Amino acid sequence: MSIFSRIFSSKITPEVLHKALKKGEFVFYYQPEFDLKTGEVLGVEALMRWVNNKRGIVPPNEFIPVLEQSGLISEFTDFLLKQTLADLRKIHESGLKNVFLAINLSVVQLKQPNIAEKIQNALQAAYINSSFLECEITETKGIDHELLESDVFKKLQDLNVSISIDDFGTGYSSFDYLRSLKIKKLKIDQDFVREMFDDSKNQTIMASMIQLGHDLGLPVLAEGIETTGQKEWLQEHGCDMGQGYWFSRPLPIDQLLDFLQKKIQNS
Ligand code: C2E
Ligand code: CA
Ligand code: CA
Repeated sequence: MSIFSRIFSSKITPEVLHKALKKGEFVFYYQPEFDLKTGEVLGVEALMRWVNNKRGIVPPNEFIPVLEQSGLISEFTDFLLKQTLADLRKIHESGLKNVFLAINLSVVQLKQPNIAEKIQNALQAAYINSSFLECEITETKGIDHELLESDVFKKLQDLNVSISIDDFGTGYSSFDYLRSLKIKKLKIDQDFVREMFDDSKNQTIMASMIQLGHDLGLPVLAEGIETTGQKEWLQEHGCDMGQGYWFSRPLPIDQLLDFLQKKIQNS
């Protein structure tokens, strides 16, 4: 096979993704979110993967933009809600009744006209109380005026579904929506954690973001914690929650259930 035909055949197109969705090749991995004071697992974040014989495990950044530009996003959102809420049921039935589920919703998904109704129906079908669902929205990917002025956030709030801000610190319009949205928590972007000890300025910024969250009455989570040093610094500076490879990588549902059971047994 020539290099050109290889590039051509590996192109991710909407048609390729549609087939993959029909064949059940999309799965969710779950990464726990921890209370930094008690070490308890408070929730799990669903992260999508495409598992394909030829391509291996494809990360979401490689296919979600294609999904969003195609007409597939609505079908994809239905699948996401159905699968992740069914997995949350399994987690609750395994004895962890208070664990919440966080899903990542892009701006394109939030702009689907019937998104709140879809969420409500999916919660009802899975017998999950809406207070266990959290929608993570990334500020960099454009929480724009059109979205802020739409009624989607009000509808989600009426449903008692929470909104949290993902990749906090990387956008530029943060203060605008911090004023107007009812937010459950701020997730500090992993770049800040990764570079925390490179420069004392980074620690000052991190401490200020934690303080800002607290002044607004919001808990703060740091993403991408990989070292004991990072975890301890964040604990000392009052960061409420943590997530990252130091605690656990994202896991397929069966491995997540084992991980959670072991945590209960050891506590
Ligand atoms: P995100 O929501 O910020 O997710 C965190 C990403 O960091 C995940 O990458 C996770 O695997 C990775 N990560 C977690 N802990 C660590 C760590 O300690 N070190 C390092 N280096 N990385 C860590 P992933 O799964 O590749 O997801 C990338 C992005 O794709 C996500 O960023 C999210 O914005 C998006 N995404 C994932 N699943 C979905 C989905 O179902 N729907 C939508 N719309 N977006 C999704
Ligand atoms: Ca996220
Ligand atoms: Ca993030």
